[in-house]
Amino acid sequence: MGGVLTIGVDVGGTKTAAGVVDEGGRVLETRGLPTPSRDTAGTEAAIVALVSDLRERYVVEAVGIGAAGYIDAARSTVLFAPNLAWRDEPLQQAVEAGVGIPVVVENDANAAAWGEYRFGAGVGFDEQLMVTVGTGIGGGIVYGGALVRGGFGIAGEFGHVRVVPNGHVCGCGNHGCWEQYASGSALVRYVREVAATHSPQAAEILDVAGGDPEAISGLMITAAAEAGDRLCVEAFNEIGRWLGEGIADLASFFDPALVVVGGGVSEAGDLLLDPTREAFRRQLTGRGHRPELEIKRAALGNKAGMTGAADLARHR
Ligand SMILES: [Zn+2]
Repeated sequence: MGGVLTIGVDVGGTKTAAGVVDEGGRVLETRGLPTPSRDTAGTEAAIVALVSDLRERYVVEAVGIGAAGYIDAARSTVLFAPNLAWRDEPLQQAVEAGVGIPVVVENDANAAAWGEYRFGAGVGFDEQLMVTVGTGIGGGIVYGGALVRGGFGIAGEFGHVRVVPNGHVCGCGNHGCWEQYASGSALVRYVREVAATHSPQAAEILDVAGGDPEAISGLMITAAAEAGDRLCVEAFNEIGRWLGEGIADLASFFDPALVVVGGGVSEAGDLLLDPTREAFRRQLTGRGHRPELEIKRAALGNKAGMTGAADLARHR
């Protein structure tokens, strides 16, 4: 069963995960290691170790790597990664030398978009966008049933569209990027800022964090919001509003039939997506006089990037 197997690798800012994936997008086994984000050789060694481990049990034809960074059009070099140490890093060459089978490199959100299009929430929609909401915001564009990479391989970096002139400073070096307002970082910032004022609103979440505003995490906020904590629900409403308004802007650019929302923060489900859909409808130009796109939650969870990267390696 399954035919040709490939390995998909998802290189995140803190964790690198690799999985064996079959032709139907099923993940047969996964392995993970921490990402040594300041050490490029160490990150490459972690990828090679994960692939070698999996190949002891599976016959694998190729490796696809989804990496959080700008990847060149040849799908080989990481040009720039805001949250990792890679600068003009020949990642494909380095990993191929270590594993001895073909390797392709793709932007992590592109890989996730492809995974959702082929096997997840996006099946059947040939014109769709993916927005991954995690620490930052990633984007992927599937049009005409193909991944759109742009002229230089770096299309779809929606997270770095400026939404607030002179706004919050961003990891990319600019100010006011969308990901500073509609991401997991924004969610945490919102609650920490209120908690730092020792407002009674923040009493419960502060308690969970042991009294230290800086110890409040995204997972704590999600759990509290699910239990009905008003401040934490309000934080989701706030980032959902930014997310929905941004998606309305994307609809003006791209007119997609579907936007898939993935990434770690999307696991909060309707806590995030209800305010997102509401803000989208309010902001959409010409609403009521145009077909409305669907906003769906990703179906593959944290395996979207791995699954997509493995499929891109299969069809390299
Ligand atoms: Zn930015």
